[in-house]
Amino acid sequence: MNTTTIPIIPVPAGQTAIEGDGMGCHAGGETLLAAAKSAGKSEVLAQYAQDYPKGEHNGPHDQPQSMCPAFGSLRVGLRMRRTATILSGSACCVYGLTFTSHFYGARRSVGYVPFNSESLVTGKLFEDIREAVHAQADPAQLDAIVIINLCVPTASGVPLQLLPPSINGVRIIGIDVPGFGVPTHAEAKDVLTGAMLKYARQEVLAGPVPAPRQARSDKPTITLLGEMFPADPMLIAQMIAPMGLAVGTTAPTREWRELYAALDGSAVAAIHPFYTASIREFQLAGRPVVGSAPVGVDGTHDWLGAIGAATGVSQALIDTARNATLGAIRGVLSQQKINGRITLSGYEGSELLVGRLLVECGADLRYVGSACPTTPWNEHDAAWLRAKGVQVQFRASLENDLDALHEYQPQLAIGTTPVVQAAKEACVPALYYTNLISARPLMGVAGAGSLIQVVNAAMGNQHRFNAMKAFFGGVGQGDDAGVWQDVPKPFPNFRKEMRRLNEKAAKKREAQDVGA
Ligand code: SF4
Repeated sequence: MNTTTIPIIPVPAGQTAIEGDGMGCHAGGETLLAAAKSAGKSEVLAQYAQDYPKGEHNGPHDQPQSMCPAFGSLRVGLRMRRTATILSGSACCVYGLTFTSHFYGARRSVGYVPFNSESLVTGKLFEDIREAVHAQADPAQLDAIVIINLCVPTASGVPLQLLPPSINGVRIIGIDVPGFGVPTHAEAKDVLTGAMLKYARQEVLAGPVPAPRQARSDKPTITLLGEMFPADPMLIAQMIAPMGLAVGTTAPTREWRELYAALDGSAVAAIHPFYTASIREFQLAGRPVVGSAPVGVDGTHDWLGAIGAATGVSQALIDTARNATLGAIRGVLSQQKINGRITLSGYEGSELLVGRLLVECGADLRYVGSACPTTPWNEHDAAWLRAKGVQVQFRASLENDLDALHEYQPQLAIGTTPVVQAAKEACVPALYYTNLISARPLMGVAGAGSLIQVVNAAMGNQHRFNAMKAFFGGVGQGDDAGVWQDVPKPFPNFRKEMRRLNEKAAKKREAQDVGA
């Protein structure tokens, strides 16, 4: 039988590469960035570069190494009542994002406007988006519709800014959230939160707006910025009550009208320090912003002082609030301790707060890596940690985190999935930051108690790791991984030859690139 092989000729990624589906993270950030700039997105990308800085000052990480950043925006939209969220992007990206949303219990539909090469380059995609938005804009059901441009539509310049600001009274919020402009999903939460606060602030300026559903406190309120464990706002409320203050809204909010209440707070506590665009809106609304959080004794002492100063509370009341809380935290810390060496890394943006708490709980913390950047709101935490001898790495890459693991040989590694995997392979107990640390209180007395418990329990598992290692030995490691009928045989000569051929091919490609 005659067979014909169809030659597959690789096409160099250029501007035309943006014409089709399936180009994305793997197409090369520079290519997409250049395409987006030439397609009219320079302004938004310049703003992102300023808000979400990358590069040497921050650290080596300049592109997502975890989940697609757009998940941050999508999650914020999906958690709001009376809000529809629509994605515009490659099918593979949308598949991943919807899968992750439902994995995290979205229980809401994710809208999708599909495209192909033709609808993308002819501008029909924009018409399709406009049509979808008009079809959805039912004021009986919705307060707002969020449309998120993913990498390819952003790189192709799909102009969401040309959508009407509202349809039938339903607000239309179009945002670009490309992986080549927004480095982490944490910062993507800020992209949408900032866009909504901007819209809401303009509404406030234009005239009266609806009051929040829940009755407002008669005391001055503190707006909390950042998604946190549900008990934390309540714990903060107890701590600031002696100063005559109340906790207001937490942003990202769960409903549109809460945005007005958030803007109406007397001060903003940037518990998560990476909400740069949101903070800009609060500052434009004349609200003072305070960084860090009430974690541990030092953190709580400083934070209560900063909140009191920002809201004009007397020193006597600040001292009353401090006395009411700090003694209890000291009590917890004196009764239990963390004894052990720890490395910590994550992409949530709250890593430095957890680091502070670990140090105060007695841990020998050597490294804190955050995928988020340094901002004025985490400078104080970084300085505190560095003064305690902790290595702090902003925009930490996975490689940084793994290097720290190997360098410091901790008794517990707290980190992202690949860090935890590497630690467990090395027979080191490990905890997932997102699932096990973020999902518990951090503030005040409850934070200290809860963290000590989970960390000590994890470190107490070393004997289990030792037993597993003794039992399994070197089974399933490296080239021997998998199911084998016989003991796998090494072929060093074959490996050597393959390496030689690969190196030769790489040199040839390099020479061709130079000549091109
Ligand atoms: S939208 Fe997300 S998954 Fe898709 S290409 Fe961009 S970064 Fe990757």
